[in-house]
Amino acid sequence: MFDFLSEKFSSIFSRLTGKGYLSEDNLQEAILKVKDALLEADVPYKLVEEFVESIKTDLIGKKVIKSIKPSEQFVKIVHDRLLHFLGAEASENEFSLQIPSTVMVMGLQGSGKTTTTAKLALFILKQAKKRGKDRKILLASVDFYRPAAIDQLEILSKQVGVDFYRAKECVDPVIAAKEINNYAKNNRFEIVFLDTAGRLHIDSDMLDQLKQIDNNIKPKCKILVLDSMTGQESISVATSFDKVIPFNSAILTKIDSDTRGGAAFAFRYFLKKPISFVGSGEKIEDLEVFRPKRVADRILGMGDILSLVEKAEEKFNQAEQESLFGVFSGGKMNLQDFANQIEMVGRLGSFSNIMKYIPGMAGAKISPEMLQKGEVEVKRFKAIIASMTKKERYFPKILDGSRKQRIAKGAGVNVEDVNILLQRFEQSQQYAKLLKKHGRF
Ligand code: GDP
Repeated sequence: MFDFLSEKFSSIFSRLTGKGYLSEDNLQEAILKVKDALLEADVPYKLVEEFVESIKTDLIGKKVIKSIKPSEQFVKIVHDRLLHFLGAEASENEFSLQIPSTVMVMGLQGSGKTTTTAKLALFILKQAKKRGKDRKILLASVDFYRPAAIDQLEILSKQVGVDFYRAKECVDPVIAAKEINNYAKNNRFEIVFLDTAGRLHIDSDMLDQLKQIDNNIKPKCKILVLDSMTGQESISVATSFDKVIPFNSAILTKIDSDTRGGAAFAFRYFLKKPISFVGSGEKIEDLEVFRPKRVADRILGMGDILSLVEKAEEKFNQAEQESLFGVFSGGKMNLQDFANQIEMVGRLGSFSNIMKYIPGMAGAKISPEMLQKGEVEVKRFKAIIASMTKKERYFPKILDGSRKQRIAKGAGVNVEDVNILLQRFEQSQQYAKLLKKHGRF
């Protein structure tokens, strides 16, 4: 969702950096470009005006710090303002629920409400498991408006691995909600996620029904699901919901589409409520905690190292992390470590995905052909290392002509490919030493 802004801002800032001195004209031009980029990203005009004014005020009020380049100061000011407008103050707390809790999930039809209800249940389940706890979670729905919505939730509950309850009442959502509430109490469920009925547009019947459910079962948490693809329209939807059923936070879905981020800024600006999560795909795992700081970093192309770390944490097991840490902290690597690294890259996703997270790479122009070439190379490297003996992996220096020939044959490549791998390995070793020297690990 924020790739568009990230690309725009990277190019604005790459023109500024390097300049020791920033003239008034340079600054004015950069500010105008920031403004255009935000407008193109579908950020509401009023917000953009305020954003730009606040940058100008910050620039005037800033004392010139000799040790920091003016361009860097400008980046810092824009970064801080992005943080403020994305609601850093409000949303940095970890999402948590009291026990017991009922979470009422609301939104328009098609916003991704049902899918998000299941995603949330999975998130809470995983969060509890990380702390060594189990949670008794129930999924239920009072969506009698969209045919098959309840069946869909039942299927999703099985995927998540939590319980599901189908209310006997199948006409009146308020009666059904009370029935579900009683069922949950009697069976000592700790968290109930209640999916509700949406409509294609804001509709007073829908709001009225939700209000009655709210009054009757008093859920501890109310979440509004908003489709980020609807851009600024999502704000009038959120405002209408909030007037009748004040909610706790919102989840923006479909950020994996080509939406440009305007909805996130607009929501924070007009609703002044937290965005707790964003939905980034159709699968139940595709839910991410919304972290304004990381978004601001990513928009400015600073590389979202933390996100990468979090992603890595989920996929690596502890032992692997420790071994990688050991390799880097020692500044020494053998081919086995190199193979493990390649393996990890494979598990983290494609190269193109990883590039976004590496500082300095976000704005780099890397063509799809280059990425594809990189991925093919990784596969080839894996095959080559796989046809080496253990000794060769640990002591690559013993690789002479005949060993290389044998390995190449085993991997179905040329000796030249084996040499390329060894060169890359050499470069990685130097990189690891460099990291160690600069204290990055
Ligand atoms: P509901 O009518 O609000 O309950 O919406 P659904 O949960 O049925 O979702 C509507 C469509 O949006 C489905 O095809 C979902 O797979 C899809 N969807 C939901 N969330 C996301 C998301 O974060 N990304 C993408 N790409 N699709 C999503």
